[in-house]
Amino acid sequence: MSADPNCIFCKIVAGQIPCRKVHEDDELLVFHDIAPWAPVHVLIIPKQHVTTMYDTTDEHAPLMGRMMAMAPKLMRDLGVTNGFRIVVNTGRDGMQEVQHVHMHVMGGPRPWIKG
Ligand code: AMP
Repeated sequence: MSADPNCIFCKIVAGQIPCRKVHEDDELLVFHDIAPWAPVHVLIIPKQHVTTMYDTTDEHAPLMGRMMAMAPKLMRDLGVTNGFRIVVNTGRDGMQEVQHVHMHVMGGPRPWIKG
């Protein structure tokens, strides 16, 4: 599986940096965002290093589909039953700070800090 030794999310996948893990399987890792915008704010990431959505191809479609498809169950399991928001920041104008594809899934009662 591809990894970038300088990538903070690859280090989380490798267990070199701790995270508050919510879910893990062969392909995906889910953990709480360290600076949440909402009462519940998790990040779904692929374990393999993919820098941005610009780097995804048809080959990644099942992986990206799994990320999207697991969001409702994750939110229900975390007690979010009144709606949530999914955001995938991509590239510089998309305000992507961490260069490893990730899906923000945010929910919980408003007001939120942002988003
Ligand atoms: P983005 O702007 O879409 O690249 O978002 C990156 C997100 O990663 C931000 O919401 C950060 O708070 C979050 N983040 C950065 N480092 C960590 C970390 N070590 N553990 C959990 N979340 C992190």
